[in-house]
Amino acid sequence: MASEITGGCRCGQLRYRFEQDGPLLNYCCHCLDCQKSTGSAFADQVVVMIDVLRVEGRSVTSSLPRPSGGLTTAHFCPDCFSRVHSINSERPGMAIVRGGSLDDPMLAEPFTHMWVKRKRRWIVLPDHLPVFEETPDAAEFMRLAVAHRQR
Ligand SMILES: [Zn+2]
Ligand SMILES: [Zn+2]
Repeated sequence: MASEITGGCRCGQLRYRFEQDGPLLNYCCHCLDCQKSTGSAFADQVVVMIDVLRVEGRSVTSSLPRPSGGLTTAHFCPDCFSRVHSINSERPGMAIVRGGSLDDPMLAEPFTHMWVKRKRRWIVLPDHLPVFEETPDAAEFMRLAVAHRQR
């Protein structure tokens, strides 16, 4: 049965909701671009199909090329500057929301970590999770995501 997931920016002006079947598709990226853009040790990302993502409120966007290909357009709240979701031109149909923007961030538990060659040394990952040195092959990533959804 689908459940409704909600989240938004820190000040509450920009909000989103989506219907989700099964566990959230949460992964972490430890690349240096993600460290810069979050100002933190890694990006905590949740994949959402764009046709079910409903966004309400004002947003401003910023578009930057990604080293692994495509252009990432990120949507921010213009009042508190939280990044609420992003879209990559190479992955049509998918949006990314940040795990920390969920109203219940405990729902997010990563099924994989990527760019672990840039992972901070103090971060210890569970042995059972698949990890990638850099960006995984898209087909391999989707195979893992589908396997995770069917758990
Ligand atoms: Zn805000
Ligand atoms: Zn990254």
